[in-house]
Amino acid sequence: MRIIVSLLLVFAVLCALLVLEVRHGTLASIVNLFDDRSLPYREPGPSQPDDGPACLKRLDAMDGIEIRALDPFVNNQGCGTRYPVLLQSVDGIDIEGKGLTLSCPAAERFARWIKKDVIDLVAKYDKGPVSRLSHMGSYNCRKIGGSSLWSQHAFANAVDFEGLVFEDGSAITIKQHWDTEPILEDLARSACDDFNVVLSPNYNDAHRDHLHFDLGPLRVCR
Ligand SMILES: [Zn+2]
Repeated sequence: MRIIVSLLLVFAVLCALLVLEVRHGTLASIVNLFDDRSLPYREPGPSQPDDGPACLKRLDAMDGIEIRALDPFVNNQGCGTRYPVLLQSVDGIDIEGKGLTLSCPAAERFARWIKKDVIDLVAKYDKGPVSRLSHMGSYNCRKIGGSSLWSQHAFANAVDFEGLVFEDGSAITIKQHWDTEPILEDLARSACDDFNVVLSPNYNDAHRDHLHFDLGPLRVCR
C-alpha cells in the first residue's frame, strides 16, 4: 500500500513539473512575440500613461501646440481616460478634422514626435512645409482585431497616422506611398523613440494604410 502511495506521489510530482514546463514554454513564446525588437529598441521615456496631472502641466508648457482639455470619460465597459485632451495642431501643422482625442501621455508623445521627427525628416527629404497631418482616429472603445484583449485605442492611448499634406496641396500617405517614399519608413522608425508599439505595413496587412502608435505595455516596433 505504501509503495502505491509513493508511486502516486511521484506521478503527481512529475505531472506538476510537466504542467510547469508547458506553461513556462508558452509564456516564453508569448514574451518573445511581444518583445519584438526588429527596429532599434529604446526604453520608453519618462512619461507613462498614469502620470496624468504632471503630464497636463508639461503639455500646457509645451510651445507651439493647440490643445483643449476635455472632461474625463470612462464608460461602463471601462473604455476612456481620466486625462483626455483634444490635440488640434503642432507647430502650425493642423491635425485633420477636429483633432485627436488622446490621453495626455499619448498626446504628449505624439506632439513630441511631430516636433522632433516629422519636421526634421520633412526637411531632410526636402519636402515642402507640412500643412496638415491626416489620421484614422485615436479613441475607439474596441478590442484588438481577432483578439479578446482591449486595444489601446479603447483608452485613447493610441493613434493611427495616415499621412502628411503639404502646403502646395500634394500629399504622401502610408497607403499609396509606403513603397516609394522612404521618408515614411523613417517616420515609423523614429516613432519607436516615443511610443511603445509602432506597427506599419511591414507588420501585417491590417496596417497597409496607416501606422499604429500606442503606449500599451508591449514593446513592438516593426
Ligand atoms: Zn491603431
